[in-house]
Amino acid sequence: MPNQKTLSIIKPDAVKAGHANAINLMIENAGLKILKKKELNLTTEQAKEFYSIHSDKPFYNELCNFMTSGPIIVQMLEGENAIELYRKVMGATNPDDAEENTIRKKFATSIQENAVHGSDSEENALKELNFFF
Ligand code: GDP
Repeated sequence: MPNQKTLSIIKPDAVKAGHANAINLMIENAGLKILKKKELNLTTEQAKEFYSIHSDKPFYNELCNFMTSGPIIVQMLEGENAIELYRKVMGATNPDDAEENTIRKKFATSIQENAVHGSDSEENALKELNFFF
């Protein structure tokens, strides 16, 4: 896989708990470079748009409330095969299913409050990077 860029979000649960630096160490130790970073608060409108693909899910409103509950850190990551590699470093959506030494295994507290987001395809990475940067 060629050099890729992907979007990472450190979600409100992990920012609030003070895990941002530990998460970024795991990202960098995996060989990914943090090219850009900013801390911000999502508006409800932004959260709804960002997660619009999940608008028909029962957890959509709760997810948007969670994502606006505090500051998040959005980052542009770069590296070989960055999209898939970062998804591996994140671990499964549900921390109960996440492998050892993944961000979500270490820091997620539920299927919703799962510490991080990462783009899941080249198309979404482009879209999500444009959304924030
Ligand atoms: P991801 O790509 O691993 O983040 O997972 P998805 O795209 O499937 O879901 C997006 C986000 O919605 C997840 O990271 C969770 O924060 C949340 N989420 C996913 N499934 C559930 C669920 O069953 N219940 C709740 N409350 N939140 C969920």
